[in-house]
Amino acid sequence: MSLIVQKYGGTSVGDPERIRNVARRILETHAAGNQVVAVVSAMAGETNRLIQIAAKVTGEGKEPTEREMDVLLATGEQTTIALTAMAINAMGGTAVSLTGAQAGIETDGVHTKARISNITPSEVHRLLDEGNIVILAGFQGRTAEGRITTLGRGGSDLTAIAMAAAVDADLCQIFTDVDGVYTCDPRVVPDARKLDEIAYDELLEMASSGSKVMQSRSVEFAKKFGVRFEVRSSLNTNPGTLVREETMSMESVVIRGVSLERDQAKVTITGVGDLPGTASRIFGPVAEANVIIDMIVQNVSKTGITDISFTVNKADLARAEAALKPVLAELGEGVALEAEDGIAKLSVVGIGMRSHAGVAAQMFETLAKAGVNIQMISTSEIKIAVTVAESEIETAAKAVHEAFGLAGG
Ligand code: ADP
Ligand code: ASP
Ligand code: MG
Repeated sequence: MSLIVQKYGGTSVGDPERIRNVARRILETHAAGNQVVAVVSAMAGETNRLIQIAAKVTGEGKEPTEREMDVLLATGEQTTIALTAMAINAMGGTAVSLTGAQAGIETDGVHTKARISNITPSEVHRLLDEGNIVILAGFQGRTAEGRITTLGRGGSDLTAIAMAAAVDADLCQIFTDVDGVYTCDPRVVPDARKLDEIAYDELLEMASSGSKVMQSRSVEFAKKFGVRFEVRSSLNTNPGTLVREETMSMESVVIRGVSLERDQAKVTITGVGDLPGTASRIFGPVAEANVIIDMIVQNVSKTGITDISFTVNKADLARAEAALKPVLAELGEGVALEAEDGIAKLSVVGIGMRSHAGVAAQMFETLAKAGVNIQMISTSEIKIAVTVAESEIETAAKAVHEAFGLAGG
């Protein structure tokens, strides 16, 4: 008998008929002689709806208390586990729902983006051994003191991967509303192709540069603990994408995929001295304000005066500006801050890049031909990322996807 962990995302459980579809699929897997733990997300749109209500009751300019935010958000998944278990039971199966806390998922106390510190799956095993199907709430856990926590947006992916590791599952399947991981978001590039396989590092780079098909922390976790998993559709039986450690043959593909991330903003501090300590005086306060910085570019100075630019999420721009205002005067006379939003990031990712020259040149040439201006550039061993005007991101993504020969046949 195999132990299978499945995860069904928000769209897959988005309405009663979809929940019944998921219930049927779980029952089929169980009837084939497997033990099943099925992780479910909140119904599509529910988490956003809860966030909006919280904002309304809290009032403009105020942040909801994070402890209560987690109590609220966890209800989205709690609703779905009950409904999915009910649907299975009504179809003649035996399913039991568990919240993250009941399933032994322990986290640190960082509300709304908690990290899993430990999983004690004894209750999950007990229920499985009694012949039950276990329906587990994604995206949530509890602290050692018993406070409810959530694992960051998209966190049901992490629940599934972490539980698969904890129970040493034979198979981990992430069911979603597309057939697998594509060469680019198929909603943006319609001729994107489904990948048969992808290395952890590639999916990690794609996920953290905007491909929201998997939560990046869940891929990080899978890589760390060697959890192979497949991403596939909950709406058909097409084979999906296998996510795994890299193999020699994967190196022959130079670019695996293209990612895009909208809603970025750029901050430029002009006229700063090219002196030791300048960067730390700028980025220290930004970090203290809990703003995550993505790309950083500092120009080479000829005159001892330089500009430093960096990008942040648009939602964090006001906080970054507020944190920097007091620092500007300290940085010297003539130092100014310029901020602009309406920026997006385009990345090409592939482990084959390590052994191939000319990828950056090809990307830049393609963007030039498409008339897209590159604002900033950053690279890693397996990724080249540029920022462009958000209004041009789709044109840019399509052109680069085409130029690297990624389109489906
Ligand atoms: P779920 O609710 O199942 O967790 P998500 O909405 O989080 O699903 O993720 C699936 C969506 O991710 C797809 O509908 C697709 O638009 C988007 N997506 C972005 N990049 C990619 C990609 N490279 N491959 C597949 N889907 C992608
Ligand atoms: N419901 C949560 C979210 O919308 C978690 C998830 O769906 O994975 O982010
Ligand atoms: Mg998701």
